Amino acid sequence: MRQISSLTALRSQLDQYRRKKESIGFVPTMGALHEGHLSLIRRSRRENSRTVISIFVNPIQFDAKKEDFSSYPRPKKKDILLAKEENVDIIFLPTDRKMYPKGFSSYISTTGLTETLCGKSRPGHFRGVTTVVGKLLNIVQPTRIYLGQKDAQQAVVIARMVEDLNFPVKVVICPTVREVDGLAMSSRNAYLSLQQRREAPFLYKSLQDARGRIRAGERRAEIIKRHIRRTLTAHTGGVIDYVECVDFKSLQPVKHLSGKVLIAIAVKFAKARLIDNVIVQLR
Ligand code: AMP
Repeated sequence: MRQISSLTALRSQLDQYRRKKESIGFVPTMGALHEGHLSLIRRSRRENSRTVISIFVNPIQFDAKKEDFSSYPRPKKKDILLAKEENVDIIFLPTDRKMYPKGFSSYISTTGLTETLCGKSRPGHFRGVTTVVGKLLNIVQPTRIYLGQKDAQQAVVIARMVEDLNFPVKVVICPTVREVDGLAMSSRNAYLSLQQRREAPFLYKSLQDARGRIRAGERRAEIIKRHIRRTLTAHTGGVIDYVECVDFKSLQPVKHLSGKVLIAIAVKFAKARLIDNVIVQLR
């Protein structure tokens, strides 16, 4: 595995792959790698000749006043070891300065899709995400990019950006990897207290319960949302940020469930804001 921080070194290694017509799979991450990230890496390894991962805690997607940019976990040595064990070809570790040099002033922003769900409570967040992913796509120029359904809105927004701006890459969305008790794996789970960690699986339980009700015939979004809220309020001390049923493509709220629907929730605990979702496909 090559560990690269310089853009020039990265480009020249990638050029060598391309000259040999090798396909390149790309997994962008913010590090603190867990099984969720590793599942993306393994999928990329299966589907491409080469796999590149990036670790970059992107400052422009954090709200400078309210969010956890400086305390975000950065276990660099452990991440490098894990990537090596997964036979990653290149681990790209750019510095903030390299990504955002003095005078940086160009951004990518998506409208509509970013005004619901997390976009509502984290203004500016998705502009930071699309900008950094756009930059990374231009730098790596991969054949495929691997994203997790865990961050469903992010995946939909990036897929839209790729289509709208003609990035020549295939977007692959991979299923959410969970702990045995159902909690979606996340670097932020480390911020939970013991008690909150015990409560956190109720996010997924509430979504599974919703899925059960839909299977039994319920189609009214209001009823589904009410039950999710009840479960979250009864079993967690977290503050509900949102509970939404949205159309998977437009991310706009639906009243009546039909087609492909994303049921997404966000709950704030003292130091961690957790998100989770399920997708239901209805006739
Ligand atoms: P992050 O490091 O949190 O920015 O995540 C990097 C990538 O890993 C994103 O595409 C995430 O959606 C994905 N990811 C994070 N957690 C999980 C998980 N539990 N299961 C699957 N993918 C995940």
